[in-house]
Amino acid sequence: ARKRSEPGGCAFYNNALAAQRSRELYLRNRLSLAIERNELYLVFQPLFATNNDKPAALEALLRWRTNDELVSPTEFIPIAEQNGKIKEIGTWVLEQGFKASKAINQLFPGTTVGINVSLLQFMDDRFITIVEQLLFSTQSQPEYINLEITESAFSLEKQLLIEKVKRLQSMGFMVSIDDFGTGYSSLASVLELSASAIKIDKSFVESLDTKGAVIIDAVIRMAERLGQRVVAEGVEHQWQADTLKKMGVHMIQGFLYAKPMPWPELISFLQQQHESD
Ligand code: C2E
Ligand code: MG
Ligand code: MG
Ligand code: MG
Repeated sequence: ARKRSEPGGCAFYNNALAAQRSRELYLRNRLSLAIERNELYLVFQPLFATNNDKPAALEALLRWRTNDELVSPTEFIPIAEQNGKIKEIGTWVLEQGFKASKAINQLFPGTTVGINVSLLQFMDDRFITIVEQLLFSTQSQPEYINLEITESAFSLEKQLLIEKVKRLQSMGFMVSIDDFGTGYSSLASVLELSASAIKIDKSFVESLDTKGAVIIDAVIRMAERLGQRVVAEGVEHQWQADTLKKMGVHMIQGFLYAKPMPWPELISFLQQQHESD
């Protein structure tokens, strides 16, 4: 006789796994047509300078609405990375982000726009060429564009990564390290990269009353000596903003100040902020 090899828990596990797998397949299929169906768009979250509480920068964040569902980038970006689709999506994001930086600088001069770049996209041989072409076609200025790469990027081909960052900086771009503190990179490799700015991950802001403060303090000291800017992400409470300001963080990004918003809303938000001068 056949042994009972599958206890209920295991069957349940298999079902959950199968459901997740079919969800991934569904999203992967729909994602392949997302660009041509105009399902992708960017929203923009303002970042505030701590010295005057004014918006000084934006971060462009990708949104995907498909079949009446808003799918989170934390769900679809990894899927796009798995099948290589991220390169095409990433190029689309760069183009839209470059255009946005040009438009925002005509309205509010000096505003920088942060654009998230996936590691796969960044490491692609054609990345620099694509960026050059887009700068030309959009007529935007790299001085107002901040390319954000996550710390996990450090694990691979460090030398190539460093060269690419230098190349982009020599073209005039800023390059930031995103989600700082969440990867496993050594401090030495972070120093070697000489990024323009460091974005401290939300998780450290959340633990600001305990271990987060120690880490943020160390990052600020390091960044000061290297002439890097420090941005704190995920600030939701006034006490966090107050503490971060005292500690010397240069910019704050978080729901306390502003949520990511579509372009028209962003423009009226920034106009209001400027009128209240
Ligand atoms: P990220 O680059 O670290 O972006 C910051 C995320 O934190 C955004 O989530 C933003 O909405 C959220 N956030 C900002 N302030 C607060 C706050 O006060 N509280 C909380 N709870 N969250 C806050 P979002 O838009 O869901 O994006 C998640 C991640 O997806 C991004 O993290 C980034 O890694 C990735 N992503 C988004 N857009 C793109 C893109 O165009 N390309 C690539 N490659 N990745 C992207
Ligand atoms: Mg980012
Ligand atoms: Mg981040
Ligand atoms: Mg993050």
